[in-house]
Amino acid sequence: MADSTSAVAVLAPLSGIRVALERVPDPVFAQRIVGDGCSLDPVSGTLLAPIDGRVVQLHGSRHALTLRSPAGIDLLLHIGVDTVGLRGEGFEALVAEGEEVRAGQPLIRFDIDGVAQRARSLLTQVLVANVDAIERIELGRGALEAGGSVLFRVFPKSASTGAPVGGDAAAGELLVSDPLPLPNPAGLHARPAAVLAERARAFDCPIFLLLGERRGNARSVVEIMALGSRQGDALRIEARGPAATSAIETLSALIRQGCGEDLEAAAAQLAAMTAAASQPAASSRREPGVLVGVTASPGMALGAVARWRRAAPRIVDQAGAPEAEREKLTKALDEVRRRLARLGSAAHDAARSGVLGAQQGMLDDPGLAEKAEEGIAAGLSAGRAWQAAVEKQAGVLEALDNPLMRERAADLRDVGAAVLRAFSGEVEQPAELPEGCILVAEDLTPSETAQLDVSRVRGLCTTGGGPTGHVAILARSLGLPALCGVDAGVLDLPEGSEVLLDASAGRLLSAPDDGQREAARAAIERARQRQASMQAAAARPAHSRCGARILVVANVRHAGDAREALAAGAEGVGLLRSEFLFDARDSAPDEAEQAAAYAEVAEALGPQRPLVIRTLDVGGDKPLPYLPLPREDNPFLGLRGIRVSLAHPELFRVQLRALLRGAGQGDLHLMLPMVAGVEELREARTLLQREADALGVAAPKLGVMIEVPSAALTADALAAEADFFSIGSNDLTQYTLAMDRGHARLAAQADALHPAVLRLVGMTAEAGSRHGRWVGVCGAIAADPLAVPALLGLGVTELSVPAPAVAATKATVAAQSLEDCRALAAELLRLGTAAEVRARLADWEAAHAM
Ligand code: PEP
Ligand code: MG
Repeated sequence: MADSTSAVAVLAPLSGIRVALERVPDPVFAQRIVGDGCSLDPVSGTLLAPIDGRVVQLHGSRHALTLRSPAGIDLLLHIGVDTVGLRGEGFEALVAEGEEVRAGQPLIRFDIDGVAQRARSLLTQVLVANVDAIERIELGRGALEAGGSVLFRVFPKSASTGAPVGGDAAAGELLVSDPLPLPNPAGLHARPAAVLAERARAFDCPIFLLLGERRGNARSVVEIMALGSRQGDALRIEARGPAATSAIETLSALIRQGCGEDLEAAAAQLAAMTAAASQPAASSRREPGVLVGVTASPGMALGAVARWRRAAPRIVDQAGAPEAEREKLTKALDEVRRRLARLGSAAHDAARSGVLGAQQGMLDDPGLAEKAEEGIAAGLSAGRAWQAAVEKQAGVLEALDNPLMRERAADLRDVGAAVLRAFSGEVEQPAELPEGCILVAEDLTPSETAQLDVSRVRGLCTTGGGPTGHVAILARSLGLPALCGVDAGVLDLPEGSEVLLDASAGRLLSAPDDGQREAARAAIERARQRQASMQAAAARPAHSRCGARILVVANVRHAGDAREALAAGAEGVGLLRSEFLFDARDSAPDEAEQAAAYAEVAEALGPQRPLVIRTLDVGGDKPLPYLPLPREDNPFLGLRGIRVSLAHPELFRVQLRALLRGAGQGDLHLMLPMVAGVEELREARTLLQREADALGVAAPKLGVMIEVPSAALTADALAAEADFFSIGSNDLTQYTLAMDRGHARLAAQADALHPAVLRLVGMTAEAGSRHGRWVGVCGAIAADPLAVPALLGLGVTELSVPAPAVAATKATVAAQSLEDCRALAAELLRLGTAAEVRARLADWEAAHAM
């Protein structure tokens, strides 16, 4: 199809009229996120191939397919808008994936009237998906006749202007990973996207992420976020060139492991956000003198209004030579990078450093740089070009159907403004705030939030933002009451006037009377005392109401987490997931590096507090790029956990030696993941004893995670030889119910409170108790306050939870009597469904409120 100028003619796949992409009522098409090309309003119902090529993807709903031309152009054909929801009804595929087709050949037949009535639009998109490979497209003219008229022409990049279209193909075969279920509770939002993009940039080959029909450059944080991914989505990675195999392996492992995100903490945070977002609409609670908003962080505060003001950055319009403008941009970007790094190392809490880390990732976004460069090349000043690039990318995020991603547009504008200030030499100063104020603002940018002198602030009130924004995250992490989305009238309140912020109730009283102030002071004092006593209780060892000692410890990854957990009241570490030392790198950590990391944790805990370290839990669904494992049809049932360590004794022995050398001085307990039977425990113990003898030290306690039904069913035999048990309820649930723990559709059914799982927990605890072994739970169910009475009743004596859940878990334990819990557990084991168990536990909770 290439003409004399080597342009590729793309024929109209349907008869109809041409429509500009901007007019398609879906931002992913209108903003060319999916690709560049043209839309058309069809009058015929058989989609014809617009070029010669191979069908590389045929959507399951048969409304879209991708053709790859011999020159490497990927052409996506998408019939209608939102037609995926028709689930294939009215569409008949006439070709199959992998089939070679000729231009004009029928590909899909569809019921044009039926689809027109049921879909949002019949507009059909024809898009070049790999826009990197082309220089431009040129639209044709006139009415469209299927298979006859030229819809548009594609001009591939020539050798002098960049990689030729066939460059990718010439550089090697295109590789595509298996589908990777996304574990991140909020999808690939700024932080994990930044981690992923950074890793992708280390590979010298084109890498894309595929999600359904969406495709994003894996080097670009914005494009990754623009995929609008959600937990459980099946992502695929596409790469080409000599580095493709290793890129796919490394990035697949990274995605499976959550791209550096603490998945448990992220799930807890999302649950808090969802609860906050489910408040009744502000408008339903309007009264005079009351400004309403959405609770971003609960609590009450009385204080004087302080209005946050910020000057917009000045932008110089006068442009010098492009070279000079480019240099200005590079200098400004470097300056902001340095400032963010400085602020990041000074930030003491995870919320602030998370914000700053995400911003750093955005600064390095190649999409932004590319767009700014386009502006400079077109004669704009560096400032204008940068601002236009930021606005364009922020607009893309704002158009997405995901509040979390939309709020990341604020991050982008914030970091964009910091760069604009750096151009003009303006210094971003943290504002001087009056003591004890309620800070009122349209919105606080992430970097303003990160620099806030919180010792002077009693509460926050913003007209913008949402319960998922940075102000909310920071306020919750600091325990500051905060309201967002407040009526705009709040900005007109006189500075210094005393207001009453009742963030829990979602309102701000602009002129509280004496009675209201008095009542508020009393309520604030009661809350302070309650908080203080909860914190004091969090700092004390946990006991049940009847005086039984229950150990409340934490799940951690490294020494930083361990210190945070101790500060939150954890009595030790019940699960250190050692694989965090091993992932996202190209080679295994050596003995010295591992020993140093374990020693740091042991030192943070001291010799008295228990430290349970789980040996490497990888393999199968969590491969390591440097560990050759066979490809498996069923990775969850393949080489995982202890099976990998025993299959690679050299790797296991290095870890055992590092553990003995690094953490041997502490109250070290080693724990084996995914044990299915007693032979594995024996083999591991032999290896451990051998290493301990070689080092001349005593072997630490060796326990077993109960995550496989066979381990629970043979807990008696295991308890005779293991020193302790820790129940991994996440895996135990998935293997008992045969439901993938990351499966979005099964998430509600894969419930650890299913009576079948509870029975296995009970069997494990009984076997442990018969042999004098302690039994803990370190899966997510341990942190569910509803589940705690059931677990205690079944005989569990240790609960290992994420740090933020320690105080509440201790408080729940303190409200229980073990005798009552045992009677409750016996009752639960007679029930037939998880829903019945939950209903009974909800009644229990209501009757045993703390
Ligand atoms: C579990 O399976 O419950 C567990 C704690 O292990 P992980 O979540 O790390 O697989
Ligand atoms: Mg597990």
